[in-house]
Parts: sequence; structure tokens; C-alpha cells
Amino acid sequence: MLPVVALVGRPNVGKSTLFNRLTRSRDALVADYPGLTRDRQYGQAKVEDHPFIVIDTGGINGNEQGIDALMAEQSLMAIAEADAVLFMVDARDGLTSADIGIADYLRKQNKKIFLVANKVDGIDADSAVAEFYELSLGDTVHKIAAAHGRGVTQLLTLALTPHIEALGEARENDEFDGTQEFSAKTDEEKIAEAPFENDKIKLAIIGKPNVGKSTLTNRILGEDRVVVFDAPGTTRDSVYIPMEHDGREYTLIDTAGIRRRKNVTDVVEKYSVIKTLRAIEDANVCLLIIDAREGITDQDLSLLGFILEAGRSLVLAVNKWDGLEEHVKDRIKTELDRRLGFIDFARIHFISALHGTGVGHLYESVEEAFISATKRISTSMVTKILDMATFDHQPPMSQGRRIKLKYAHAGGYNPPIIVIHGNLAKKLPVSYKRYLMNYYRKSLKIMGTPIRIEFRETS
Ligand code: GDP
Ligand code: GDP
Repeated sequence: MLPVVALVGRPNVGKSTLFNRLTRSRDALVADYPGLTRDRQYGQAKVEDHPFIVIDTGGINGNEQGIDALMAEQSLMAIAEADAVLFMVDARDGLTSADIGIADYLRKQNKKIFLVANKVDGIDADSAVAEFYELSLGDTVHKIAAAHGRGVTQLLTLALTPHIEALGEARENDEFDGTQEFSAKTDEEKIAEAPFENDKIKLAIIGKPNVGKSTLTNRILGEDRVVVFDAPGTTRDSVYIPMEHDGREYTLIDTAGIRRRKNVTDVVEKYSVIKTLRAIEDANVCLLIIDAREGITDQDLSLLGFILEAGRSLVLAVNKWDGLEEHVKDRIKTELDRRLGFIDFARIHFISALHGTGVGHLYESVEEAFISATKRISTSMVTKILDMATFDHQPPMSQGRRIKLKYAHAGGYNPPIIVIHGNLAKKLPVSYKRYLMNYYRKSLKIMGTPIRIEFRETS
């Protein structure tokens, strides 16, 4: 399970500046998939090869009312679910009563809190931050200038990493741990751990609230034998349901928590983005559900971004396809082409979870995506495909020198990773990388999963 780090503080202290700095790797992804919006609140970050989820909680001050309270709800939930909180204050403004209010709130949460004084550029940092010690949150005030990156690496490596590593070790014994994410792995280790095509498929049902996740989960379970049914430990966990279909074993990762819905007093299931992000990380294949009646929303695109970023296989289901007029269906299909054309590798199904229409065919695409993602590929084959691709279309020049791609090997599965070695390989433009990706996709007949290509410099 990926650790969650929440950025908390009053407005204007520099939360989104730090968020952007921490999640910058995401920009590469956005470039790879034009059409993706970057979520300004939830992102993936990495410190020394330890990935974590970072959340910008926006501006909360701990005593919101009315509309603010509603908007702050996800933020407060994020804090409750976070493994660590970076509490940001503004070194130029000094200690404010809002800071004290937030500190009081955080202290009650019993969380690991790092107090971070931002904007220490161009001022006498030590004297500026002295008063923040009054908040009595730990014995260090971390001094940073998020806008310039100053102090950020130290904050991450000296404070956050040890905490995240300790968390990783503590979770090592968990049943559904994803602790393999915590250490930098060699290609051989990644391959040794990757699932095989006959293995159990971990399938996560993903979608924003009300798209029909529980309806679909119920439908799937109604038609298949439920082997065991485990209730989740806490609200931040999804329900893991073992099941079987056509001789294939699955673990259904139910983010909607249908089990808890049976409790009449708890009808409204709280949607948690973090729970969803963790389910995505833990799955092999994600079934992303979109509501036909709402079209494609930013929230759908942001979930899609996370699925692609995690490298998970993907099947799209447009739900509530029942009772729609033909011209409405046409309009939705046009919108799908226009806005999701960039993920042309994913199968799209039009279903009605309510009536069961189309649900049975989902398995075929899930299976296909999983097999594509786990199919073993040999070094000779990927090198041969590289030769063909570069023969058909030479890599461009970089600063007057020809980029030479020499050989390739498999660097992991689920997602399939292809490692290409060459001269100036890292200088390849995005367009050529995309060309290679498509070439590999076609040659290896890979459907339903993103492919990752990594470049390594060899002289
Ligand atoms: P948020 O409301 O907490 O998300 O704050 P923002 O990240 O939007 O930053 C608020 C303002 O502070 C912006 O004008 C930033 O450019 C500025 N800012 C952020 N970090 C720094 C910093 O390290 N030094 C200085 N001088 N200004 C900063
Ligand atoms: P969740 O929040 O994603 O788990 O969504 P639910 O499964 O609770 O569904 C939300 C609402 O959409 C409920 O009122 C469902 O009855 C309705 N719904 C779900 N699937 C369909 C469908 O295929 N067609 C129609 N017309 N309504 C659906």
C-alpha cells in the first residue's frame, strides 16, 4: 500500500507550490497522454524510489462551516487517512491564529506531523521560524522555500523517508501489502515478482461516486460463486472478494464497499479518493466505470490518469446504457472518441449494471488485458522489434549527433516495461517515444495495458 502524505495549512502558505514540486514526474505522463488533466489535488510523488501519494488539502482552517465544511470534508478525510502530515506555515507571515487553530486540530488526530516553514528565501530563516516552536509539534521546524526547491530534498530524505521506510516495514506482514513498492528493484527482481498469465487477477472496480460500482459488484457476485467474503478492517480499506469465473480466479477489489451498505444505518458510503488510489495500486486490472448520463468528467480523467500512471491494465465500462435514445448514445460515443482517443489501447464496453446487459463480456477484455500485461517477452524479440522500428523510421538527431538505439530487454511486467539501451537515448523526443510505444504495441499485440519504455545510456 502506498503511503499517503497530506499537505495541510492555511491558504497561500505554498501548499500547491510544494505539491507541484513533489509531483512533477507526473508532467512526463501528461506529455505522454495529451488529453489527460493533471489532478491538482492528488498526485504521486517519489523520494529515493519510495513512491507515495501526496494530497494538497486546499485551504482548511479547522473550523469550516456550511459550504466550506462540505468542501473541507474530503480534506479532513485525507488527513484522517494520511500516514504523515506536512503542516505548512508561512515564515514571512509568522505565526497566525489560523496556524494555531490548525495545529490544535492536527494534534488531536494522533498523526505523524512534520512542521514545515515555507518561504525562507531571502530572509533570516532561523529567527523567522523561531516562534513556530510554540506550536509544539515535534522538535524540528523544517525550513524550505518550495518555490525554489530549497530544503525540500532534506525534508524528504531526512524526515519523510525514514518515516515512510518504517511504515513499509511495519506493513510487511499485512495480508494485502504492496510493500514491494517500497524499495528500488532490479529488473530481475521486478520480473521475478510479476504475475504470470495464469495467476489470479486482482480486478479493481473504479469510478467516482454514483457511477454504479456497487450495482455492478452485486451483479458480478450474483452471477458468480463467492468463495469467501471478508469484511474490511477500517474505512480506508477496500473489500477484497475472492471469486471465480470460467475457471479463472479473481480477487475483486470493491472500493464501494457493498458489504457495509447492507447496514441500513450506513447507506451512504463515503467515497474516498485515497481508498480508490490504493485499490488502483493494488490491482492488476482496473475497470473504470463512467456514467453515460454524465459524460466524461474531470474526475473520470483524473482517475484515468492515476490508472495510467500506476501502469495498470485498463478496461472502460460506460454504465447506465439502458433506456438511452439513439441520438444520445451517438453523442456519447463521439465524446468518447474525442476525449479518450488517446487511450486507444483500452477496450470500451457499454453496459447496464442494473439490468446486466453487456456485463458478461467485460471478463473477456479483463482477461485479454491481464494476459497482455503479463505475457513474457524475450530479449531477442524486443531487440528485433527495436531494429525493425528504427529501420522503418530512424531516431532523430540531437545537437548534431544521431541518437543510436542498440538493444532492448524486458524490465518488468504488469505493466510491461521495455528497457532500451543506446547513445543519447534519453534525448529522444516524446513523439519518437510514442512511435516506439505504438510499434511495440502492434508487434507484441498488447491490448488493454499501458507499456512503459525506459531508456538507458550505453556508449
Ligand atoms: P497555497 O494556497 O497554500 O496552495 O499556496 P500557493 O502554493 O498557491 O502559494 C501562494 C503564494 O506564495 C504564491 O504566490 C507562491 O508563488 C508563493 N510562494 C510559494 N512558495 C514560495 C517560496 O518558497 N518563497 C516565496 N517567496 N514565495 C512562495
Ligand atoms: P456507486 O456509488 O458507484 O457504487 O453507485 P451505485 O451502484 O450505488 O449506483 C448509483 C445509482 O445509479 C443507483 O441509484 C443505481 O440504481 C443507479 N444505477 C447503477 N447502475 C445503473 C444502470 O446500469 N442503469 C441505470 N439506469 N441506473 C443505474
